[in-house]
Amino acid sequence: MRFCPRCGARVILKKKDNLLVLECHRCGYNAVVDEGIREVSEVATRTEVVTVLGERSEEIRALPTTTAECPKCSYDKAYWWMVQTRSADEAPTRFFRCVKCGYVWREYA
Ligand SMILES: [Zn+2]
Ligand SMILES: [Zn+2]
Repeated sequence: MRFCPRCGARVILKKKDNLLVLECHRCGYNAVVDEGIREVSEVATRTEVVTVLGERSEEIRALPTTTAECPKCSYDKAYWWMVQTRSADEAPTRFFRCVKCGYVWREYA
């Protein structure tokens, strides 16, 4: 709760054009408050560049298969390949593509 520095009445905080404005209804005092207005909008956006293979059968046939359960159809065989995501010092991510339904998922280490 805030009080007017001039008359001591309770003041109202309003948001005006990204600024917090303090308003007193009794004496008309108003001031811009410079605290707590800075909105932290720093959203950690992690951009992952993921290469998903095309639909051409030649590409798919060239891939090795492994035993992995498809999260979608539960088939236990999938093609797999490695993709280097983000920085080069990180381990590459393994991707799977279901032999049966074509669903693509990644392996979480
Ligand atoms: Zn006042
Ligand atoms: Zn599947």
